[in-house]
Order: sequence, then structure tokens, then C-alpha cells
Amino acid sequence: MRNLLMVLVALGLGTKRHWHIFIAIFLGVVLGAWFPYNPESPTFMHHAFEVVGQMFIRLIAMLAIPLIISSLLIGINSLGDGRQLGKMGVKTVMYFGLTMIISATVAALIGFYVDPGARIPEGFDLASGFVPFKPTAEAVHITSIRDLLLNLIPQNPFESLARRDLVPVIIFTLMFGTATAFIGDTARPFVAFFEAVFAATMRIVDWVMIFAVPGVFALTFTAISHSGVGIFYKMMPFMGAVLLALLIQILIVYPLLLYVLARVNFMNLYRAISEAILVAFGTASSSATLPVTLACIERRGGVSNRIASFVLPAGVSMNMNGTTMFEVIAVMFLAQLYGIPLTLTVIISIVILAIIASIGAAGVPAAGMITMSIILNGIGGFRPEQVLEGLSLLWAVDRILDMCRTTVNVIDDCVVATLIASSEGELNRELLKSGDSWEDVV
Ligand code: ASP
Repeated sequence: MRNLLMVLVALGLGTKRHWHIFIAIFLGVVLGAWFPYNPESPTFMHHAFEVVGQMFIRLIAMLAIPLIISSLLIGINSLGDGRQLGKMGVKTVMYFGLTMIISATVAALIGFYVDPGARIPEGFDLASGFVPFKPTAEAVHITSIRDLLLNLIPQNPFESLARRDLVPVIIFTLMFGTATAFIGDTARPFVAFFEAVFAATMRIVDWVMIFAVPGVFALTFTAISHSGVGIFYKMMPFMGAVLLALLIQILIVYPLLLYVLARVNFMNLYRAISEAILVAFGTASSSATLPVTLACIERRGGVSNRIASFVLPAGVSMNMNGTTMFEVIAVMFLAQLYGIPLTLTVIISIVILAIIASIGAAGVPAAGMITMSIILNGIGGFRPEQVLEGLSLLWAVDRILDMCRTTVNVIDDCVVATLIASSEGELNRELLKSGDSWEDVV
């Protein structure tokens, strides 16, 4: 053990900061599995790491709202006139839609052919003794399409702000930003104010990222030590199916889209956003990761500020391929487990509802599990006790899968930003390719 630590430390020192985060994640997994959390006698170490992890999440999460609002406002204003804005809006929605449809279809194919519900080991029973993560308040309130639709329009934008309810906040900001773009010079002082908010918030991001290594370590340790290792064995077929789908998206779908539509080598992009990828994995929150994502995609990915500051904040809670894939496979898994026939109509309904449910999910941990009830209610057929039992199985492994799907959610937004930047002639390809001269982001 000591030798392993020494090797890791030696490997980590002197290398780029994203390696430090990577090692922190690795150590978090190993030590978390080594020291499982026992709810009856929690140790000081478990408490301490939980607090450290939460402190880090809070530090970055507190920056999400000022960043989203300021960058969206600046982004819209820099687009200039209404025609440009409309064009960009349509393009963004089209690219988001394209990746969503592909991801849901890939997931449905995997769910169907891998058939995880039929493959779970013999003697399968309800997970006992696990401690599910409690979803945060922002994650819980959308459980039907009706709620989802109504929730798009804020009754009181300040209330939505205080509740960190990002979708209505983004919609209000989009409208407000569009209005300021139309009134022209009168809005200049207002926009200048938000330019200062943006610059100052990004500076705080740089400071907060100093704590990325201990923060991500503590979060990973807590996630693994709470889940225990046994449940992974039982849920292996399901987890394997989800991971396979996510990998196909990252290693086949995005590389193809990037190459065919923008002639971009995916490895360059993934290297440019490596810190964002690792922070997404550690925090399981794409909105908490947003500050790092913005920094990576602009300072290294070569995407212009105009595009990044528009596409990323909008994508962070609306465009979630990882969540869509997870939800499709999770619902298919439950259907297979409880013998609900997966006809083509049912599968298509799951695909459509999963796209809607993932648009409604906030970029916070566990949000995808909550909005999944939109799909379960939508397709029907489950008995209430099956829903309860099925969901508790999923909860037992959710955090780990959440870390993985959040990573895909973040990559997904970066891919769309790159595609749009390329199509607008605003992708600095030299910068994207010049890996060795990139500045450190964290
Ligand atoms: N945790 C995910 C995110 O922040 C949402 C989800 O639960 O799927 O992107």
C-alpha cells in the first residue's frame, strides 16, 4: 500500500494538474472500497471526507448562478442583432436535438440487445444496508410532464433563483438578454455590469480550483464507501449496459460527429477539456462543473467566447446525453426485470420520454433518477411496489453511474459548442491543436 502511494505521488508531482485530479479519483475509489461506510458506526474519517467533499461542491456550485446569468447575457448581447440571435438559437437547438436523438437511440439498442434485466445473478434480492444519497431540493420537484412544462416559466424569477431552479432562470435570462440586445445602447451599462460579474466569477473559479484535488478525492471516497462493493456485483449487467452505452457515445458517436461536421480530432478536444471531465466525474454535477468547462473550452478548446458563453450555460441543464442514456436503459432494465413487454411502441415512448425527462433534469447529483418518474408514469404497467423496489435497486448504484453520465453530459455540451463554433468560423484550430502550450485551467 505504501509503495503504491509513493509511486502515485511520484507520478503526480511535476505533472499537469489534471493528473493530480485523476490520481485523487483513483485513490478515492481504492480507499473508499477499502473502508466501507457503516451507518451504525460511522468513523471520523468518513465524516471528515464527506464534509471536505461537500465544501468543495458548495464552493463551485455557488458560482454556477452568477456564471450562468452573466455569461448568457454577455453571450446573447455579443450575438448582436435579432437575426443573428435567431440563427444561433435555431442552430443550438438543432445540434442539441441531434445528439439527444442519437444518444437515446444508442441506449435503446443497447438496452434491447444486452437485456440487462434478464442477466442479473441468481438469488437477487433487494440491496440491503446501502445508504442512498439524498437528492437535493433542486432535484426533486419535477415528476410529470405537466410539472415540467409549467416549471419552464418562472412565476417569480427571484424565487427560482433562490431555489437554484436553473431551467426557469435560464429561460428568463434568455428573454431578458434578447430584450437588452434589442434596446441597443441603452442596455450598455447593464451589460458592462455583467461583464464585470463574469470576469470576477471566473477569477474566483481559479482560486477555488486550488482545492480540486482534495475535493474530488473526498467526493469519490464518500461515493464509493457509501455504496459498498457487493451491490456492484449484483447490478453488474445493468451497470455494464449503461457504461457500454456511454462509452459508445464518447468513443464513436462524438468522434464521428466532430470529424464529419467539423474536421476536428476528438482527442484534441478531450485533452483540452480533461479538467472539466475529471471535475464532472468527481462532483456528479454538470452545473457545478460549468465554470471549469467554460475555462477549458475557451482557453484551450479554441471556441470563441461568443459561442461558449451562449451554448454551454444553455446546455448545462437542457442537453444531457448521459442522463438520457441512463434513463432509457434504467427503465428498460426495470421493464425486463418485471416482465413488462418491450414492444416497439413502448421503446419509442421510453426514448421520447427520456429525452423530455433529461431536458427537465437539473445539472445536480441524482437529478436523472428523479425525473425518471416521468418515464415510469408515462409508460405505466409497473405495480407501485415494483416501482419502489426497482428504484431502490437503482439508487444503490446511482452515484457511481451519476459520476459517469455527468461526464458525458459535460463532454456533450463541449462537442456541440465546438461544432457550432466550427460552423460559424469561430473555432481557433491552432489553439485546439497546440496542447503543449495550453495554460493550466485548474
Ligand atoms: N448529475 C447529472 C448532471 O449534473 C444529472 C443526472 O442526475 O443525470 O449532469
